[in-house]
Parts: sequence; structure tokens; C-alpha cells
Amino acid sequence: MENAARSRTALVESLMERYPHVPREAVFKEDLLRGGVAFDDSALSGGDDGDVKPKSYFIFSFDHRTLPELGAAALNRPPEEIVLTGGPYDLRRTVVSVRLNPTSPYRVRAGEDGSLGLYLEGVRISDVGVPPMPEYYRHKLSNGKSVMEVAPTIQWGYLIYLTVFRVCQYFGHKEECQYCDINHNWRQHKAAGRPYTGVKPSDEIIEALDIINRYDTAQTSQAYTLTGGAITSKVGGKDEADFYGSYAKVIEERYPGRWIGKVVAQALPKDDVKRFKDYGVQIYHPNFEVWDKRLFELYCPGKERYVGREEWHRRILDSAEIFGPENVIPNFVAGVEMAAPSGFETVDAAIASTKEGLDFFMSHGIVPRFTTWCPEPTTPLGKENPNGAPLEYHIQLLDTYRSALERHGLSSPPGYGPPGPGNAVFSVSSFMDSLTTEDAPARA
Ligand code: SF4
Repeated sequence: MENAARSRTALVESLMERYPHVPREAVFKEDLLRGGVAFDDSALSGGDDGDVKPKSYFIFSFDHRTLPELGAAALNRPPEEIVLTGGPYDLRRTVVSVRLNPTSPYRVRAGEDGSLGLYLEGVRISDVGVPPMPEYYRHKLSNGKSVMEVAPTIQWGYLIYLTVFRVCQYFGHKEECQYCDINHNWRQHKAAGRPYTGVKPSDEIIEALDIINRYDTAQTSQAYTLTGGAITSKVGGKDEADFYGSYAKVIEERYPGRWIGKVVAQALPKDDVKRFKDYGVQIYHPNFEVWDKRLFELYCPGKERYVGREEWHRRILDSAEIFGPENVIPNFVAGVEMAAPSGFETVDAAIASTKEGLDFFMSHGIVPRFTTWCPEPTTPLGKENPNGAPLEYHIQLLDTYRSALERHGLSSPPGYGPPGPGNAVFSVSSFMDSLTTEDAPARA
């Protein structure tokens, strides 16, 4: 391809030059997460019975197209994650969650020697490794369900992702968060005839964990996350704290301390949060989603109506009294601040707002984390903004986040595996890849 046509490469390289503190691995990772990647058919996983660990659709679709639009990739899945190494940028090992976009300038395909590579605008930029099918995915539960459906693992096997409630009780455009496709993802898997359990029974979870525990002999899995949609009334007679907490209880009774137990739930009142702790949860993620007041009200209408932003933040601070500030890790969806038509129009304004949120929480010893926004096509914000946020926003955010941690004398949050370029396994943003560490491997 002519150099003049390689505009994405030029953008990436100019950002690497302008932000030398941000590892170049993170620049590629953010670009892949925000804009997705295409796969040649030859690079797909081989489906549920192949040698490669397939994409599990563990909560949201995290794709740029719906399953019917993805064609072959819907039938013959891509890998859950890819790992980038080497190439002309001499990349250290970088784990990236796979978000499909058939029109992305990034493409995974086999080169002439048959080895997989990542190509940007036609030029090979790194080698690509794919996760091997874990032994525990080859064994079924007694009712025939797969471990991948009941207890998928992500982050190169580090985290068992237990979406125990596959839908959200904030329903429809007046309540659902405007960037979230949890309910659509449930519908599309049902429509495709895929197994997709709405409420996962706890005995299925335990059976799946038994299989994981038996075959994960290297103990790569270190943590589990209990999560799912918000519960505004009850599920199975239980409110949100009892519903999600009861899974932690049965897991901890059977496997005390085997994994770090985390729960992603709404910012709940203190008594409910205490119940999480009593059930055995170690880390609480009451996600604040987006910092700006006006945008929170617009993007999270259900949360605003049922709880309200100020109360949401107050509850996050209160929960630090129960869990300890280091174990309260609220997430935000990085990039939605810049979504048209209501978001910030400049990168600087978006970063200034998000920095204010980071300082607010970090000044209380709470370290937020973020996932990189994937503009899924069935969400209102994804529809309006198919290209997501500008890459420069994501790169500035990594710089801003790292400086905020340093300014507040804090370090990387627990339960995310090792930090630093070449070490990190957290796959849905590169905040862990961007933290400086002494034991980051040197470039070859
Ligand atoms: S609360 Fe919002 S982000 Fe969470 S599952 Fe429901 S709609 Fe999605």
C-alpha cells in the first residue's frame, strides 16, 4: 500500500512520538480495542471444538457488527484474545481482547510462512499468538452445558467471568445505559440458537468451577468476577446484594480463598455492601461509568432515576469503609465522554473532566479503572459513533491515569494480575500495560 494511503499508521506513529511515556504496545492495543480487528477465515478459532480458545461473549458483544452481519465469524468463532509480540515495533507481549470489525484497517491473517500476524493497512506489524483451548473447556457439565458458557475465562485464563444474570432490569432506551448491549447480546445469542443461560444456577457454577479447578493445574486462574445486569426489583426472590452475594457464598464455602472474589454491581447502600463482604466477596466494583454530571444523566438514565449520580458517588465512598479503599475499584467506560452528539468536542475537555473524577476517587484512596469503549452497533451511542472516540483521547487518558496514580501515591489495583508492558494480562483496556514497573521486560 502506498505510504500516502497509510493514514492510520501515520496517526499511530505520530502519537507514539508525542506521548513517549505511553508504551507503544498500549497505543496499538487501544486502537484495536476502540476500533476492532478483522480476521481472515483462516485465523478463526475453529469453533467450540478446535485447538484455539474461542470468543465466549462473556457479557456484552464487544463487536462492531451483530452476529448475523459477521457471517463466518458468527459460526466459526475468533479467539477470545490475541497476544502481540515482536515485529517492526519490537512489541513486548501484549494481550488484547478480540472485538470484531470486518472493516478495520487491522487484520489478523497467516503470512507466507503460515504464522499468524497482525497487519495494519496491509503491513505486518507484529506476530500474533492465540490462546490454546484450555483443557477445562473440553469437559462438559453433567447437563451437557459447556464450561465456556457457564464459567468462561478471560485475561489469558487469569479471570473466571461469571455473568450470572445475562440481562439487565434497566430495560429499553429510557433506562438502559446508552453504550451497553447486554440485553441485545442476550437476544442475539438466543436468536442464533446458541446456549445462553439467563440466570445461571449456582450448582452449575460450582460444577464448572470444579472442572476448572481440576484441570487448571498451573493455577492460572486467580480471580473470579460475579456480575450481570442491574437488579432493581428481585431475581429468584433475592435483591441485588443477596442475588450476587449468594454465589460468592457457595463458591467460598467450597473453595475458600482459592480465587480472589470480585463483584461488579450497582453502588448499593452500605448495609447491602456489607452483605457482599459477609458473603466472602473481596473486591467491589461499583462502576461510575462516566464522570461528567450531564453525561451521566444522559447516558445512564436508569441509574440516574433510581439512585442519582451524587448518591451513587456517596455510596462508592461509603463502601470503602467496608471493603477498604484499595478493594473498591469503580470502572468507567473510557471514550463515551466524546460520543456525539452530547459528549465533549475536544480531547482536552474530555480528559479534563475524567481527570477530575480520577482525582475525586483517588483523593479518597480509591483507584478507578477503565474499559475501552467499544461502540457496539445496537446501542444508541454506538450507532451515532461507529468509530468510537479518537485514539488521541485514549492515549492521553493512559498518561493522565498514570500521573494521577503517582500524584496520589497509589499503585495498581489488586486482582488484575501483574502490571507493566510485557507483563499485563488485563485485556479490555491497556491501563495495566501502561504502568511503569521495574520488572517490565526489556525489548529484544
Ligand atoms: S446497568 Fe447499565 S451498564 Fe449495567 S448492565 Fe444495565 S444497562 Fe448495562
